[in-house]
Amino acid sequence: MSIPVRKSHLNRQSPFGYACNRCLECCRFKKIQLNPYEIARLALNRGLSTTEFIARHTTNGGTVLRFLEDGACGFLDAQGCSVHPDRPLVCRLYPLGRHVTFLGVEHFNQIESEPGCLGTFHASGTIDQFLAEQGAGPFMQAADLYLDLLLRLLEALQDQELAPAQSGDVLATVRTVTDRPEGGHDLSWIDMDRALSDYCKQSGLPVPKDLEAKMALHIKAVLTWAA
Ligand code: SF4
Ligand code: SF4
Repeated sequence: MSIPVRKSHLNRQSPFGYACNRCLECCRFKKIQLNPYEIARLALNRGLSTTEFIARHTTNGGTVLRFLEDGACGFLDAQGCSVHPDRPLVCRLYPLGRHVTFLGVEHFNQIESEPGCLGTFHASGTIDQFLAEQGAGPFMQAADLYLDLLLRLLEALQDQELAPAQSGDVLATVRTVTDRPEGGHDLSWIDMDRALSDYCKQSGLPVPKDLEAKMALHIKAVLTWAA
């Protein structure tokens, strides 16, 4: 289902502000795609490994946050988001959408609010200020790094004639191939702890403690295996 757009092709200096009134309507009936960094943040929040988190809280081979049968996000409770400090990027950006082209050009869309949303728009700040308030920086950086990884992975799979013709959804295309159990490191590109455990065992390196260092080594490991 496409989401109606209010304003498109905004940039970081565009006037924007949003006051959320915590009605929690936007935490229902969504499909929230996750990258390995977002999974690792949520897993740390829950005191789980990424392998355990993927098994308990995701669907679609680890790439989509699990929602309950009544349509609510599994992390929504009476007080609101129970993983707020580690919520995924899309939850931080709402009601903005961020788009980055293959050439690295970024723009934002302002989407229509949920029916019943009690939030209010204003224009006394900028998108850049809103992103800072939401702590979106590390999440956007991780999203860009993992998009680049997925594109490289797709290229490697196509070189090996393993990938079907590229659809618009890079994540789905990579998943159709890497979900194969005979693929060896079939989940390594999404399951950071599992990949690092394998890679560090093979290479004799210690598993980094810091999440940013883990992410960098995870990307290196997946690229090494893809090559
Ligand atoms: S992670 Fe938190 S903010 Fe995001 S949909 Fe779930 S409850 Fe809402
Ligand atoms: S629907 Fe709007 S007001 Fe309600 S929690 Fe989401 S952003 Fe805030």
